[in-house]
Parts: sequence; structure tokens; C-alpha cells
Amino acid sequence: MQTSFTLAQLADPHVADSEKILRACVHCGFCTATCPTYVLDGNELDSPRGRIYLIKEMLENDRPASADVTLHIDRCLSCLACMTTCPSGVHYMHLVDHARAHVEQTFRRPFADRFLRGVLAWLMPYPPRFRLALNAARFGKPFAPLLDAFGFTRLAAMLRLAPWQGPRRPLAPQIFPAQGPARKGRVALLAGCVNDVLAPQINAATIRVLNRLGIEVIVAAGAGCCGSLVHHMGREDEALAQARANIDAWAALPALDAIVINTSGCGTTVKDYGFMLRTDPIYAERAGKVARLARDISEYLVSLPLEADANVPALVVAYHAACSLQHGQRVLRQPKELLGKLGFQVRDVPDGHLCCGSAGTYNILQADIAERLRKRKVGTIEGLRPDVIAAGNIGCMTQITAGTKLPAVHTVELIDWATGGPCPPALRDHQRRLAKQPLAAAG
Ligand code: SF4
Ligand code: SF4
Repeated sequence: MQTSFTLAQLADPHVADSEKILRACVHCGFCTATCPTYVLDGNELDSPRGRIYLIKEMLENDRPASADVTLHIDRCLSCLACMTTCPSGVHYMHLVDHARAHVEQTFRRPFADRFLRGVLAWLMPYPPRFRLALNAARFGKPFAPLLDAFGFTRLAAMLRLAPWQGPRRPLAPQIFPAQGPARKGRVALLAGCVNDVLAPQINAATIRVLNRLGIEVIVAAGAGCCGSLVHHMGREDEALAQARANIDAWAALPALDAIVINTSGCGTTVKDYGFMLRTDPIYAERAGKVARLARDISEYLVSLPLEADANVPALVVAYHAACSLQHGQRVLRQPKELLGKLGFQVRDVPDGHLCCGSAGTYNILQADIAERLRKRKVGTIEGLRPDVIAAGNIGCMTQITAGTKLPAVHTVELIDWATGGPCPPALRDHQRRLAKQPLAAAG
């Protein structure tokens, strides 16, 4: 694609990087076929190619974002399916991240939108605040249909996504020692923010599996949210501050073999720290080092000698490939390989390249599109008639379980169970519910 940025514009490294990305696009439109928002409505402006044009026009002309451009950028899930499909290697992620920051700096959103975004950015990255909010949401949950009826769809979506059970206390910084006579490795675990409050069993399973394999696990003091929640809202300063805090926290640890991440949305962001902080003279080098150490838990485990415990049933597992894992990190094979090796019958979800609609805060901010994507995803998963759904991202688990009675667990919970850990709580509760149902109702 031809561009016409001035030399003065290209002096800004963010514009210069975006210009390179824009020039790589050859308008072929292959990406449209795999873009969830285009697949739903067929609107070119809600396709990657359409968004690329809008971003080009906006940046090239140094224009503040208009309401129309903001709408189409906001509707993008950042699922990155377009990057997997693109034959020209267009780095859409960096382009849309730049565009989101530009929108945030130049467009004044309506008050309700600003307020909701502000609340989400204030709450979600901070486990103690998020925990309090979830406790309150349990009481509001029954009123979600009423709020929907009065047009408060985003508030209703928030309540629907909140779990019925009370949130847990976040994991305190500490060292989890390796089991066995000799330590075989040492990793830092990104305990995360939302993940740790909504589903602490995921971190617990991760730590058990690693410790059992002789790996010491450190949850570093000072590490917190990876920054992706606010990064995807275009709140760049906040995202970079959160990234720097994590880099400082991990830099203070003894030598690490890896930084293990079990929430794939966070993994994609941490692996991008080197780019995000490329213009920061103090942090750029350390950010690159952290990005190179980051591993999804399945990537880290795949080379270790896992052995199955014979007592675990060979359940049929519908493996939902989170977008951030399959498109953002290109981790496709490892989770399925691990589950298969441990005796589970793994089935791929048809149209698995399409997002479930979770996408960070997307299922709150774009509740209607997210709901349509959820229905589509749940339909394809239920068609497989699995015993359980496995995914590598808490966002997808929360999004999918809001639309199905099937239990959804993190891949590492199944790995832990199969190698001597407890049965994942969601699966145990589901089996208990099934046992209580009369036979006719259980189908
Ligand atoms: S990131 Fe996803 S939603 Fe956004 S343009 Fe690419 S494919 Fe479409
Ligand atoms: S597939 Fe790649 S090169 Fe083709 S239009 Fe989409 S982004 Fe541009």
C-alpha cells in the first residue's frame, strides 16, 4: 500500500513503525474471510482491510479520531486471526494498538462510555478492588435481565459474566519449592489479576505441576497485571507503567529459566514488552529480555517428562484454542499434544480460528457482538458432544461457560489432574450436578 507520510511525521517512531506495517499490506483481502466481525456482518469497514484503510487515513492526515473510525476500531476484537491469514506478514496488532492509543488521545467519548472504561481500568487490573466488585456483583446478578430490558446492556453483560461463587484471595508473593532431591529449574509465574481472583485453581494447578516436575516457582513481589487490559483500551501510559512494574519485579529475582504465563492474553502482551518499551532508554533492553523469557505454560511443559496417572478417565475434551494463544503467540500444537499424551481424547472445535467474543473487556464493551460470537462458538463446541472444554485463557473460559452447561477448565488443570493432582473443581461440580439429575433430565 502506498503511503504519503511527511518526513516530520516519520520522525515519530510510532508513526514510522505504523507506516512500515501499512506499506506491507497489498489489499488482497484474504484476511477478511477469517475476521469474526466481517464474518458476522460483511461490512468492509469491520474487516482488517477496512480498518487498515481507516487507520491509514487517520494517521496520514494527522486527524483526531472521528466517531466513525472509533466505532470500527472499537469493534475489532484484537483476536489477530487476520495476522495468521495475511500472506504479506502485516503486523496488524502493532497497527491497531497504535490506533487505539491515538483514539484515546484524540477522541472524546460520550460520558457513559468514558465512565465505564474508567471503571474497568480502575478495577480489573487490581485484584483487591476486583474482588470487592465481584462480591457486589453476585447480589446484582439476578437483575441482569431487567437491566438488559431497560437498555443497560453493558452493565447486564458485566453481571452475567460475574461468577456466582465468591472470589478468592489473590496469591501472595512467595517461593514454591521444587519437589524431589534436586531442583531441575526455576521459573517466575505471572499470577495475573483477573485470573487469580476468578479462578485461583489455575495458578494452583500450574504450581503443582511444575513443582512435581522439579521446578521451583516464584511469584514475585511487585508483579501484577501485565497491562493488556488497559493496553487494549488505548491507555498506553497505564499499560506501560504496569509493564515496567513487572519488569522491575522479575529483574529482582535470581536467574530464571522462564517466565511462565497461564493466561494467553497476558502471554501475548508480555511477549510484546520489547516492542512496547522500545523507545524507553531505561527499560528497552530489560523489556526485550523479559519478552524472550516469557512462555505459555503449555510451551514450557511440552518438553518436560510428564507421566499420566492411570486413574483419570479418558474424557472427550473440546480444545478451544484461545485467539491470543493460536494467533497472538502461534502456540497451536503444544496444548493438544500434552492432553493427548496424558490420555484425553482431544477434539478440535470447527471454525476454531474464530474468536469466542471474550477479548479482554470486549464482552462488556461490545456486548452484542460478543454475545453473537459466543452463541456461534458454543454451538460448534456442543456439536462435538465433549465431556469438558479446555482452554488456555480465563477470558475464554468465562465467556463460553456463560452460554453452556458444559464445564470449562484450563488445560493445565487437566494436566495437573492427569499427573496426580485433584480433579478440576468445574468438572467435579458438573459431575455432582449430573449425578443429582433424574436420568431422563440428564439425557
Ligand atoms: S484482530 Fe480480529 S477482529 Fe480485528 S481486524 Fe483482525 S481478525 Fe478482525
Ligand atoms: S491479508 Fe494482509 S495484505 Fe491482504 S488485505 Fe489483509 S492485511 Fe492486507
